[in-house]
Amino acid sequence: MEPYRAAAVRRMGLREVPDRELSSWSRAALDAARALGYGEVDMGVPGPPGHGFPLINAVDGRRWNAAPAYLDADTRGRADLEVLGNTLADRLLLRDGRVDGVIVRTDGVPRTLRAGLYVVAGGAFGSPALLMRSGIGPAGPLRDINIAPVLDLPGVGANLSDQPGVFLPLVPTPELNAALVEKEREGEPYVSRVLVRTASEHAPRGRLGPAHSAHRRTAALRLAATGPVRGGVSAFLMKPATRGTVRLRSADPEEPPEIDPAFPSDPDGHDLAVLRSGLATARRFARSAALKGLAALPEGPAAHELPEVEPHARPGTYWHPVGTCAMGPAELPAAPSRSTRLMPHGTDPEER
Ligand SMILES: Cc1cc2nc3c(=O)[nH]c(=O)nc-3n(C[C@H](O)[C@H](O)[C@H](O)COP(=O)(O)OP(=O)(O)OC[C@H]3O[C@@H](n4cnc5c(N)ncnc54)[C@H](O)[C@@H]3O)c2cc1C
Repeated sequence: MEPYRAAAVRRMGLREVPDRELSSWSRAALDAARALGYGEVDMGVPGPPGHGFPLINAVDGRRWNAAPAYLDADTRGRADLEVLGNTLADRLLLRDGRVDGVIVRTDGVPRTLRAGLYVVAGGAFGSPALLMRSGIGPAGPLRDINIAPVLDLPGVGANLSDQPGVFLPLVPTPELNAALVEKEREGEPYVSRVLVRTASEHAPRGRLGPAHSAHRRTAALRLAATGPVRGGVSAFLMKPATRGTVRLRSADPEEPPEIDPAFPSDPDGHDLAVLRSGLATARRFARSAALKGLAALPEGPAAHELPEVEPHARPGTYWHPVGTCAMGPAELPAAPSRSTRLMPHGTDPEER
C-alpha cells in the first residue's frame, strides 16, 4: 500500500504543522511528552513509541478533501465524466455471477446505470449496505427483511472494527483560555494536536514492531467558535479486538443501516484493559508539571462519565471504521469464501 499512501499524501497536500501554528497548550503538551520519556517520532508511519504531530491538510484555512484534490484538480472537466448529485446507489444487478448494472435513485427517482467496471466505494457503512441490498451478505438475516440472497457471504457487514477512545476533559485556566481565543482570532483555524504513540502493558511482549503500538493518545484542546475553550486529553485504542456489525433494517436505501460497534465485547477483556491503561497515561499527562498549571480536571463527576473505565472520562471514537467488506483468503472467516456458491434463483432485484 505504501506507494498509494505516499501518492495520496502528495495529492492531498499533507504537510507538517508549522511551528507558528503551535499554541501554548500544544507547546506544553510537547514538554509533557518529553518529560514523560516520549522522544520525537514520525507519526505519518507506524513505528516505535514516541511523540509527534499528525500531518495536516488545511489549505487557505479549509480542510482539503478528495473533491478539490482529485475531482477539481484535473477530472471534473472530462467529457466522459458525469457526477450525479442527490443520488443514492440502491442496489447492484447481478447476472451470471457478475455485476450487470446498478440501480440508482436521483431525488427518489430510480434508473439503471450500466458500465464496463463498477467500483463500490460507499465506505465502511455504505458499502456493506449496498452489497446486502443487492443480495450479497448473510443469507438468513437478508431473508428476514425480505431480500433474496444471491451470494451467502456472512462477512459482509460483520467484522466492523473502529478505534474507541476515552476523553479526559480538562478545564483551562482563564489565562490559557484567553491565549487560545486570541490565537484563533489571529486566524489560525487549525488547533494543533500533539500525538503520543505508546504500548500498554497488555501489548504482546517482544512484538512491539511497527504494527504493534497498542494505543495512541492525543493531547488536544479544541476551540469553540467563540470561547470558552473545551479540551482535554484523549486515549484511543489503536488495535481493538472487538468486532461489531453493520446490518440492514430493510431493503429501503433511504433507511440507514443499524451500526453496532459492540464495544467492548472481546472475550478476553483486552480492549477495556488497554483503554484503562490509556486513561491512566492520559491522567499522567493531565497531572504533569507542564500541563497541570494550564488546565485541571473538573470538580465532581463529569457529564457522560464512563464508570466502567474511570470517572471523568467520556467514551468516543477516533472515527476510523473499517473491515465490513473484508477481502482475503477463503480461510479467513470474515472474508469472502471461495466455497461460497451463488444462490440458484433469479439475481435481478427488479424480479423480486
Ligand atoms: C470526523 C472524522 C474525522 C476523521 N479524521 C481523519 C483524519 O484526520 N485522518 C484520517 O486519515 N482519517 C480520518 N477520518 C477517517 C476517514 O475520513 C475515513 O477513513 C475515509 O474517509 C474513508 O474513506 P472511504 O472512501 O472508504 O469512505 P467515505 O469517505 O466515507 O466515502 C464514502 C462515500 O460514499 C457515500 N455513500 C455511501 N453509501 C452510498 C450510497 N448507497 N449511494 C451513494 N453514495 C453513498 C457516502 O455518503 C460517502 O460520501 C475521519 C473520519 C471522521 C468521520
